[in-house]
Amino acid sequence: MIKIKPVIEHEGICRHCGVVLANERVLWQGIHVCVEACCPACGGEYVEDLKVGHATTYPYLIDRASYTLSGHEESKGWLGNPLLHSLQHPAADEQVRLEVEIKEACRDVVIINCIDFLYGHSLLKLLNAERERIENPDIGIIVLVQSFMKWMVPDYAAEVWTVNVPLSKAQQFYPQLDEQISAQCERFEQVFVSRAYSHPSRFNIEHFTKMRPFQMEEPQPGPTRITFIWREDRVWLDNPYVIKAAKRYKLLRMLLKPIIWSQRNKIVKLFSKIRKQEKDVKFSVVGLGRSFAFPDWIDDCRVSKFNLEAELKACEIYASSAVIVGVHGSNMLLPSALGGMVVNLMPADKWGNFAQDILFTEENNRISAYMYRFLPLETKIKVLGKIISSQISGFTHYHDQMKEDIMMSRNG
Ligand SMILES: [Zn+2]
Repeated sequence: MIKIKPVIEHEGICRHCGVVLANERVLWQGIHVCVEACCPACGGEYVEDLKVGHATTYPYLIDRASYTLSGHEESKGWLGNPLLHSLQHPAADEQVRLEVEIKEACRDVVIINCIDFLYGHSLLKLLNAERERIENPDIGIIVLVQSFMKWMVPDYAAEVWTVNVPLSKAQQFYPQLDEQISAQCERFEQVFVSRAYSHPSRFNIEHFTKMRPFQMEEPQPGPTRITFIWREDRVWLDNPYVIKAAKRYKLLRMLLKPIIWSQRNKIVKLFSKIRKQEKDVKFSVVGLGRSFAFPDWIDDCRVSKFNLEAELKACEIYASSAVIVGVHGSNMLLPSALGGMVVNLMPADKWGNFAQDILFTEENNRISAYMYRFLPLETKIKVLGKIISSQISGFTHYHDQMKEDIMMSRNG
């Protein structure tokens, strides 16, 4: 974590003179937590990222005189340029505000900024609360979240600061939020900001969802549930570029419905194959979008909009699913954390983001290799059905064979 009060522990360098900049104040841009600094030699003014969130790897610096952006070239498109643009064009929206909920009075605090324009980024930053709690037990945790993520803030947070900014507007800079957050920081003796790493590995999902994940090692009552995670903006389609083009070009929009219909049919076909091979199974479809109906033997739990009730209901289904199947994306984060095993269908253009959408809960390497399967989206349904079927029927045998401690305990 980085201290920002009573002093800002950050050392920026003037691009013109090479001298160390004098830090003036923290600027709460929204996604970015920045430092406003000036050069004692030439008077140059700068805004620079504190190394938190995605700026841990890709920090940006803006020269205020020329509004010149310096930083990592490849991430400029989604991270650097929006920061620059937001500071040049602050958003004037009087409805945007900070809501403060104090649960425990603290003198020293660490702020975890979860604000982001992508759902997955926001959720992953929130999981950093666990590391902060373990590493800094004497420091109160403040979680800064957008309204949609508030339900997942762990009970141990000392304060919850909620902003009513939707994902679609989160790349903007709201000066009133900056002022309100800065004013709240005045209450404390010491303030730190969490590194809010983009892919934290240490977390207990139960602290966030308040729901116990599926336990592969425990006997389960009733049929084995297999759940497909549905979305209509990234579908189970061999060619990922077709849906991108259909969303982008009006003339191609007529293709969307047939593509989604084809996804529905693939799911029915896959579940039918598994149904023939496994006796006591139950199937569910969970996710956003309610296009087309499913046969009665498939439990259709899709919603047209996610609210708190729908989130909790979906989590209940994930947590009772032995297998989660879905196309790679942030839609797989919570299902993979709460469900048993995972089959992740990888679009050809997403192999570079391998496993970034999976919240691994199994720490044993060999058991983990069995539980999480990453398969090309183009995999034939028949093959996929066999893989899932064997994954279910073979787990106990594999698990017992591969865990030496179990074998040893049996041999006395
Ligand atoms: Zn200078």
